[in-house]
Amino acid sequence: MEQNAADAAAVGGLAITAFFCFGGALVSALIGGLIGNRRDRGILGMFLGFFLGPIGWIGAAFLDYSYRCPFCQGGVPKGSKVCLHCGRDFATKPTEPPA
Ligand SMILES: [Zn+2]
Repeated sequence: MEQNAADAAAVGGLAITAFFCFGGALVSALIGGLIGNRRDRGILGMFLGFFLGPIGWIGAAFLDYSYRCPFCQGGVPKGSKVCLHCGRDFATKPTEPPA
């Protein structure tokens, strides 16, 4: 009788743990999807978040930095108007001849 109660508690604990793990993975997937979604990579972000958790969020966030500044080669979010590193305006072409 006592053993059964212990087993039931163990199974219950396992179920609760599994529930929270799965719930956590789902929440992670949602957050990863939200991060990736800003760059039309929501699905990939969701996968990263689901399988890697917070590490996947970082990966999803870094997906943003796939564009390089033509002036300083620093990674910047795609679609940026101004470089985060050197502050130069991307509207100005780097190959423009000096006036
Ligand atoms: Zn730059």
